[in-house]
Amino acid sequence: MTATLPDPTRPRVLADLRSDTVTTPTPEMREAMAQAPVGDDVYGEDPTVNALQAEAARLTGFEAGLFMPSGTMTNQVAIALHTRRGEEVICAEGSHIYEWELGMMAAFSGVVPRFVPAPLGVPDPEAVRLAVRRSVHQSPTGMISLEDTHNKAGGTVIPLDVLAAIRDVANEEGLPLHLDGARVFNAAAAQGVPVSEITRHFGTVSICLSKGLGAPVGSVLLGSAAAMKQAHRYRKMLGGGMRQAGVLAAAGLLALRDGPARLQGDHRRTRRLAEALLEAGYSVNLAAVQTNILYVTLPDAAAQVSRWAEAGVLASALGPDSVRFVLHHQVGDEALEEAIRVLTA
Ligand SMILES: *Cc1c(COP(=O)(O)O)cnc(C)c1O
Repeated sequence: MTATLPDPTRPRVLADLRSDTVTTPTPEMREAMAQAPVGDDVYGEDPTVNALQAEAARLTGFEAGLFMPSGTMTNQVAIALHTRRGEEVICAEGSHIYEWELGMMAAFSGVVPRFVPAPLGVPDPEAVRLAVRRSVHQSPTGMISLEDTHNKAGGTVIPLDVLAAIRDVANEEGLPLHLDGARVFNAAAAQGVPVSEITRHFGTVSICLSKGLGAPVGSVLLGSAAAMKQAHRYRKMLGGGMRQAGVLAAAGLLALRDGPARLQGDHRRTRRLAEALLEAGYSVNLAAVQTNILYVTLPDAAAQVSRWAEAGVLASALGPDSVRFVLHHQVGDEALEEAIRVLTA
């Protein structure tokens, strides 16, 4: 094994704003991981995993939870639970479950997406109703999936009354409703409500511990006890049975305990960055800046991102003219001001 030594030819990183997945476990998390009681989770015998699943279920108001290595896995297991081959999944345009999950809804569950328009990530409930397919000439609708906050739309929030209206459509049409809630704690923080005010509308919810909440690994799927029993089988099929996973769940428990309260600060700093970039002449849609994600439109995004990286500020080029910044708890006010000086120089 080669040791990683500091490379004097590389610039110091002032702020890593590529994603909220880049956070590293805090010393307190490391300590909890070291001390965690563990067992074989494929047998359901890891006490720390069980505690994490119970806590996630309590916070979101579900009967049961199932810990998995990634949000892709929790989402795809949910799709497998709710659909049959040849069906459609109604989802907002740009949804992670299709755009960033590598065709897995087709590869694993044999289903295809039916996008509905979603300005600022919010689908119109009537558009969702119109997207439902029933005729013998069409692939029938198997489920509806929402994303809150919506990543590609800029970390945007679905208003609670729209959620309720889409839930009513799902009920009237007899369709299961899933939430890709990778950042649902951000949505709750932005609206000043308990997360259960959002999750209560859904049959299953996927939450990510490894985004803004700050855990190194993991997501939890929430639903009924019967659904989670079936989900356990799909998780094993996908290679997601993790044995003594309590070392990871221990960090997840701290992420659930301490993470949500930090998100308001991330949102405030995202707003600060957006306003600073706007003032410096960048093209920013402030209406889309609602949580911890900021998209900036500029020419030749990849070249600009590598110039900023040379100066110590990391961002993601997500298209020829689109750069994404994501705030998280390991970029505080001071680091952000340093980053702003670089970005507006
Ligand atoms: C990050 C993310 C996921 C899950 O991604 P993994 O990398 O598989 O954990 C799911 N949905 C959204 C909206 C995300 O941003």
